[in-house]
Amino acid sequence: MNLRCSRCQFPLSLCSCGQLPQWTTATRLVLLIHAQEFHRTTNTGRWAHLCLPNSEIRFHGLPNREPISWDGLSEGNTDYLILCLADDALPLEQVLEKRNSQRPIQLLVPDGNWGQGSRLARKARKALPHIQPVKLTGGAPSRYRLRTEHHPDGLSTFEAIARTLGAIEGEEGQKKLEEAFEVLVSRRLWLRGKIKKDEILGGL
Ligand SMILES: [Zn+2]
Repeated sequence: MNLRCSRCQFPLSLCSCGQLPQWTTATRLVLLIHAQEFHRTTNTGRWAHLCLPNSEIRFHGLPNREPISWDGLSEGNTDYLILCLADDALPLEQVLEKRNSQRPIQLLVPDGNWGQGSRLARKARKALPHIQPVKLTGGAPSRYRLRTEHHPDGLSTFEAIARTLGAIEGEEGQKKLEEAFEVLVSRRLWLRGKIKKDEILGGL
């Protein structure tokens, strides 16, 4: 049996925790994750959480059936955004232009496969009617090569988070995250025998 690192989910011999940059954002990220999804080695939301000290994970679908918590997501003087692909989601840039930039942002991001993500977004919006649905528009295509069915816009959760926070807080942190992502994905591809050892970004 191949023991895995409990944080990054890589085999212990290839623990990649040291490859994860730290980006302390003013925006708080709240990841909504289906419990089953969280333990998949292809889950990228976990990696984003590990890179972002100002982030937390809220679980749905726990074996004990405890419902997902929406506590603390209705504070005044805060803008709540949820990244989703609902028909009424506004382009992120449009929302950022109009907002008072002095107000802190809490960004909710549903993770999981397409169906799980959409269901979680609907649940969140029902519980928290004040949150503004936003979507990413344009941008480069996904660099994610471990799953194909993930998001209808083709982005992995990690990439979507990096781009959204980049738009809110500046590209420098986004770049650090994206570079780390490339390294992690290439290590995964090597583990799957899809690339050769000397093709792993940054080496081993
Ligand atoms: Zn690790």
